Formats: sequence, C-alpha cells, structure tokens
Amino acid sequence: MKEDFKILQRIFKNARTKKHKCLICDELSINSHLLQKNGILNYISTNNHITQIKGNDFFKAEKDGIIGIKSVGINNAMSYPLFCNSHDTNVFAPIETQEHNLEDYNSQLLFSYRSLCAEVRKKMVNVDIFERVKNSRQFAANTQFINMAKSQIEANLMGIQDLNWYKNLMELEINNSESTPNFTFEKIDFEFIPVSASAAYSPLNPTEHTLEVLKNKENVLNYIFINLIPQEDKLTLIIGYHNSKSDDWILEYISSWKKLSKLEFELKLTDLFSTKIETWAISPEYWNELKTKNIKAFKEYWNEHANDLRITQSVDFNLFE
Ligand SMILES: [Zn+2]
Repeated sequence: MKEDFKILQRIFKNARTKKHKCLICDELSINSHLLQKNGILNYISTNNHITQIKGNDFFKAEKDGIIGIKSVGINNAMSYPLFCNSHDTNVFAPIETQEHNLEDYNSQLLFSYRSLCAEVRKKMVNVDIFERVKNSRQFAANTQFINMAKSQIEANLMGIQDLNWYKNLMELEINNSESTPNFTFEKIDFEFIPVSASAAYSPLNPTEHTLEVLKNKENVLNYIFINLIPQEDKLTLIIGYHNSKSDDWILEYISSWKKLSKLEFELKLTDLFSTKIETWAISPEYWNELKTKNIKAFKEYWNEHANDLRITQSVDFNLFE
C-alpha cells in the first residue's frame, strides 16, 4: 500500500512537471493565463493574491478532500501551460489590453477559445497520468485499478476529440476575421461580486446521454463556454455555444442568467461552482467573509459529486449569502 502511494506520488509529480507543446505549434508552452491580471484578476486580488478553487487530483483528494482551496500569487493564478510565447502573445493581443471590449464577438470567441484549450490540456494531463498508471509495473497485478485507468484514458481521449472539433472551428474563425460567425455568445452584466471563472462545460442529460451514446465516437457532445470576468464596477458573464451544437437546455440555461435579482444571481453562481465547473477564483477577503456552514456545504457537495456533469443536480445552499 505504502509503495503504491509512493509510485502514485511520483506519477503525479512527473505528469505535473512535464513540459508540454503549444496547443497550436511544436514549440514548448509557457504558463498561459486564462484571465489576465491587469484589468481582470487585479479587481479580485488582495495583496497580489487570489483564492483559487480547483479540483484536487485523486492522490491529494485522499488527504485534503476533492476540492482544493488555495491562495495563489496573481502571476500564477488561473493559468495552464497552453501556448508558446509567440502564440500566447499574438493570438490573444486583442483581449490582453486594458480596454478589452466584451461586446465584441472576436473577443468573446478568444476568451472562449482559451477556456476550451485549458479543458483540452487538463484532459491531456489526465491521459498522461493514467497511461503512466497503466504502464507501471507496480500496478500490473491490480486488474481493477488498471481497468479504471483504461476507462479514464478512453473517456479523456473522447473528450479531447470532442473539444478538438470546437477548437478547429474556433481557430478557423480566429484566423479569418471575414468568416461567418458560427458561435453565439451572450454578454450579461451583474452587480460586482469578486469572483472569476473560465471553463467549458458539457451538460449531460441522463435520459439522453446513455452510456451507449457517450461511448459513440461519432457523437460530439454539446458544450457551453463560460467566462466570468470581473471589471472595475461589475461582473460580466460571457456565455456561448456553437450554433449546430445547441439544444433546449442550453438555450434555457443561458436565458436563465438574465434579469436576476441579487439573491437569484448568488444561487446561480453557487449552482455553477458546485455542479458544473471545477476551476474558479475569488477575492481572498471575500472568501474569508463567506459563512463557514456554506463553505462546508460546498466542500461536502464536491466530495460526493466530483466529476458529475448531469444537469439534474441541484444544491440547497447559497455560498454567497
Ligand atoms: Zn505556438
């Protein structure tokens, strides 16, 4: 058991420190920020730090619970090894300025493209981890564990395949500003709450997405792209989808963000962070003001429902009350 633990620890360390190629070219990737510090994250930072909420890998989860809550220096916050220096600089130049225009389709597309790429990278790292588990002599006799690793590899590879479908289409539009827009984005402004998020979510409907449907490689799952962008005096949600990959649930979900009271907005955010996306950030000061019982409810929900993407979930607490 102890040896298993040590090997797993090494596997995670190796996977975490592995150098990755840029998701566009063959150069090595740098640490790309999903949301930049100047003009976005600085609005939710305290002493140059923000509190990042992030799913723990299953090795850490054992000790600390599934969800990790960590104060992170603003330079490392909400970042992943995604692109080489040149692509990171050039592709995102239009949204890296202080005066980013969140009404603009191309800006909305770039924010969504970056959150999509982070999902691709997370899945690639998962594949790497479970390949290492599968190939490790230590676990060769542990059939159950090897089978788990194999099905994780399969599921993550299928996820990557779906995400690449979106990635290619987004790149076509990003590289050709004359092309017809195939994505629809909504921009909705809210009263300022010091949180941020950047994620892609595939809503799973238990009646529609049977195991058979999920395992069919021909199907590209519907995804929505979500960015919560703090600004000086408001919090802006950019939420969107590909026009041929939408359904009633997605349309209703997006309109359900409109015209909310403060309480309804808080409940909506709580639902988003508990049941739909796993990485978001919050101002450390504000996190400390949240009620202990709600933080406890949030963590407990995560410990039971991590990796659950079903749209039928609901929570009965308000993290922000
Ligand atoms: Zn590159």
